[in-house]
Amino acid sequence: MRNSILIIAFLFNIIVGLGQSNQPVLYVFSGSDWCIPCMEFKKDILEDSVFVSTVGDHVLLEVVDFPQKTRGISKSELARRDSLAALYNEEGAFPKVVLVQGTSVIRINHHVKSANTFLEEVKQFVIPHEVKAAFQSKLKMGSHFSLHLCNGKEEDFKAAWDEIDRIENSISSWKDSSEISSINRNAGFAPVKVSKEVMDLIVYCMNLHSVTQGAFDISIKPGLKIWDWKKGIVPSDSLLKATQRLVNLNNVVINEDSSTVYLKVKGMSLDLGSIGKGYSAMKVAELWKDRGIESGVINAGGDLYMFGEACDIDLWSIGIKNPFKDNEVIFTSNQTNVSVATSGDYERYFEVDSVRYSHIIDPKTLQPVKGMASVTVFASNPVLADALATALSVLGVEAGKDLINQMEGVEAIIIQHSGKVYYSKGVKQSE
Ligand code: AMP
Ligand code: MG
Repeated sequence: MRNSILIIAFLFNIIVGLGQSNQPVLYVFSGSDWCIPCMEFKKDILEDSVFVSTVGDHVLLEVVDFPQKTRGISKSELARRDSLAALYNEEGAFPKVVLVQGTSVIRINHHVKSANTFLEEVKQFVIPHEVKAAFQSKLKMGSHFSLHLCNGKEEDFKAAWDEIDRIENSISSWKDSSEISSINRNAGFAPVKVSKEVMDLIVYCMNLHSVTQGAFDISIKPGLKIWDWKKGIVPSDSLLKATQRLVNLNNVVINEDSSTVYLKVKGMSLDLGSIGKGYSAMKVAELWKDRGIESGVINAGGDLYMFGEACDIDLWSIGIKNPFKDNEVIFTSNQTNVSVATSGDYERYFEVDSVRYSHIIDPKTLQPVKGMASVTVFASNPVLADALATALSVLGVEAGKDLINQMEGVEAIIIQHSGKVYYSKGVKQSE
């Protein structure tokens, strides 16, 4: 089949018609009232529903018609068709099918028996592009996300972005329609039925709450809201006290049989901001692996997950930034199949009277954490890495390092405001 495809480097700028668009254009040169093979090709292939629905999104189709009866067609339109023929159908064959993509003109074999076979030919060039390595980035969840893919297709990116949107729509406490917002609206009122996915996440967070002795607490949202990050307003002691009874994961009641979640006290609310990025990274990796992709890197707002072997360079390398010096890297690793999450107040914070306040809150005092410039956690599971990075920011160096050193396969680098850097045992060795 490949022999029937002739690729001609097209040296001129495309100056006529649809060819100016970046989208590939499939030109079909035809004689609608005299060329019987053209009529058959139109009926059997171009109007086939599978062909139309599959190619339609990716290719602009233009039938360049040269009928005998030209009444009703303007002179300028006839001239436009002539110039298209001069460019792509010099020999005057009918029907003739060419695909114009950027500066390439690809002749497609129209002597095919079925719409499917024709579709396969066209698809090779337009959907989806096989890419050796490719990169896309977008703003998601209020952060800069980037996706890096080896030997995948354009469609794999789209599926990944859709998955990230789906997760955000389901777990963001800032989206009214999310499941988490529904739980929050019903606090003190009624249990809310949730999906298995949200239930599993909440159960996971509950386990982390006990593992971190309460430092990690997704019922933190009322404690976050009293700090006005935008206006830089610090809450009064009485407000802090009144809010304290609303932050308590023990008042979150789950029923796994009926799949319901109930916040016992009116005014309580959940926030999964501490794991949203890690969870997205994990789900995109799962989705890509299911699609047969063997390696890729997901950078979810600084929380990274990489799997498989690098395809574009010899090795992927993870660099941990020095929060005090732009462009200085204090640690690099060439591991793969690893996730790396960083929490810190060097990128997200607010300042009042030169005091820097973090967006990470100690659930016991409702005070923003102080003293930690950045906490980086390495783990095989991106959700765990993300959660622990947040939790360690609350726990501080001593309690944090005790916790990490007890956990197998988990490492951390903690950088304090004083400039002191703590490396967990495993990191030190691989440094
Ligand atoms: P991260 O950037 O992953 O450390 O997540 C920070 C976010 O987690 C904050 O913006 C809050 O939404 C949420 N958060 C703050 N403090 C805590 C805490 N102690 N436990 C769990 N989530 C928290
Ligand atoms: Mg986190």
